[in-house]
Amino acid sequence: MAQDSYEIDLIPTSEGDLTITFLGHGSLLFTYNNKTFYIDPYSKVADYAKLPKADVILLTHEHRDHLDRQAIEAVKTDDTMVVMSPSCANQISGEYVLRNGDTAMVLGNRVEAVAAYNMVHKRENGQPFHPKGAGNGYILTFGDVRVYVAGDTENIPEMEGLEKIEVAFLPMNLPYTMTPQMVAEAARTFRPRILYPYHFGATDTAKLTHLLAGEQDIEVRIRKMA
Ligand code: ZN
Ligand code: ZN
Repeated sequence: MAQDSYEIDLIPTSEGDLTITFLGHGSLLFTYNNKTFYIDPYSKVADYAKLPKADVILLTHEHRDHLDRQAIEAVKTDDTMVVMSPSCANQISGEYVLRNGDTAMVLGNRVEAVAAYNMVHKRENGQPFHPKGAGNGYILTFGDVRVYVAGDTENIPEMEGLEKIEVAFLPMNLPYTMTPQMVAEAARTFRPRILYPYHFGATDTAKLTHLLAGEQDIEVRIRKMA
């Protein structure tokens, strides 16, 4: 459901504020030094024609609520840089196809693609909802602030290698991604300073807040990201 106004948070960095606009579901808008970075634009949550044009669009994987042509077309210009996972590459063209572990400098900002996949939650046929290597999470660097947008994933071992994450977005919609317990586990592994559960569907966010209540150095922030 498209909203008329969105929640916005400001994150100070060494080179000016990062503005986070919470569009809903898995869709975010980062604004930094007058540049716009869209994550997984999705028509159901916003009227993208009314939003600023994209300098960068990052797509985590090919599922319809993450790769939505209509939303992409609404914000894309001839100058937009599109960054995507291998699983998107046969559906859409773009400047950067990043595999897990790849890094690119996109309009002066470092973008690192990291693993995003299921280990526990699977389809009836035994296939994981998100197979390893198909989709990406992204770590974006804005000044001295590293922002981790996890994509559709569980609390995978690769998260143990994440360092200095200031802001993290972790998915909590079931059965496709993580339970509140799994999100709490993930957060305890790499200890983001600010944790936003996102793409949480009908999962009760209060459970996550409760689970992490004792972790003084992790601030759980709940925004309208169902
Ligand atoms: Zn998905
Ligand atoms: Zn999803």
